[in-house]
Amino acid sequence: MTEANQPPGIRDMIARLVSLPSVSSASPDWDLSNEAVVQTLAEWLRPLGFETDIMPVPGMAGKYNLIATLGRGPGGLVLSGHTDTVPYDERNWHSDPFTLSERDDRWYGLGTCDMKAFFALAIEAVRGLDARKLKQPLIILATADEESSMNGARALAEAGRPKARYAVIGEPTSLRPIRMHKGIMMERLVFEGQSGHSSNPALGRNALEGMHAAISELLALRADWQARYRNPAFEVQVPTLNLGCIHGGDNPNRICRRCELHFDLRPLPGMDMDELRSNILQQLQPLARERNLEMAFSPLFDGVPPFETPANAELVRTCEALTGHRAEAVAFATEAPWLQKLGMETIVLGPGSIDQAHQPDEYLALSQVEPAVTLLRGLIQRFCVE
Ligand SMILES: [Zn+2]
Repeated sequence: MTEANQPPGIRDMIARLVSLPSVSSASPDWDLSNEAVVQTLAEWLRPLGFETDIMPVPGMAGKYNLIATLGRGPGGLVLSGHTDTVPYDERNWHSDPFTLSERDDRWYGLGTCDMKAFFALAIEAVRGLDARKLKQPLIILATADEESSMNGARALAEAGRPKARYAVIGEPTSLRPIRMHKGIMMERLVFEGQSGHSSNPALGRNALEGMHAAISELLALRADWQARYRNPAFEVQVPTLNLGCIHGGDNPNRICRRCELHFDLRPLPGMDMDELRSNILQQLQPLARERNLEMAFSPLFDGVPPFETPANAELVRTCEALTGHRAEAVAFATEAPWLQKLGMETIVLGPGSIDQAHQPDEYLALSQVEPAVTLLRGLIQRFCVE
């Protein structure tokens, strides 16, 4: 292996990753392939001894996951990140989002903190590591579409790969371990009745009145869930249900034929998404039937389950010891539920602040770089070498 094959330094790696657009979005106008990012990571990892497996995400053209493995064995550690970024508004940036720019001891660029830089830091941490010294494998996992459908992580869970004992997701947490987040559900409810002249209610079936009753039921369910579930680790300690938007009817003097409501639910760890949906359905079906309204209730996207790793888990205790911080809960969702589904003890822990994620002038503070590399080396030492 020649020196020329080795990956470049941290700054150059981050600059290269930032320069490769990989926006993912439910809107086709924005959505891009992540292939260039995944190929670049694979090219850097191969000379370091990693076996690289680039897996197309089924049903999603141009989207790939990368599983890069160093060493062998049944246990081991996964360092996981997503390769995509959110869309951006160039007019609000003070420098080109795709050109890494250094000012005020910060690296600015789209995806610096969320979360392309994490890959560069992970690669830096493994540089010079001798595969023969590993007792357990080290896996670098790079996923597609975390910012949109989470279909990269879903595809991995379905494929049953990768397998390891522990997983660290390097989302920006300011290097504080996170062992819990809420889930995200976005649901759509539609009532369809019959229009008619407003002067005689018997001429129609009013979808808007049905929705009024449905909203009362949803708010009653919310009150019930909030009375039963509480977790003091979260800033908002109870599950939430937000009525987000509603569209129905067209005229004051016409019986409303159709009404559509979109709402958002944030379940706490321990709440099951399918159970919540079936509770909602049970409450709403009778009220639609009484009013002779057609009802459709469906998710707007598949949702992200809530996530929790126990406080006494070995990975949690190790991360607390290495960072000097107690593990916390956060308000944002991650791919953690799917990695957990693969049987791995999972934690979210990475450089950069979530406050800079999804913002114009996204940056990574240079002060996070060395501590992150040191932390990753500590985790590799603990879970792969010792
Ligand atoms: Zn992220």
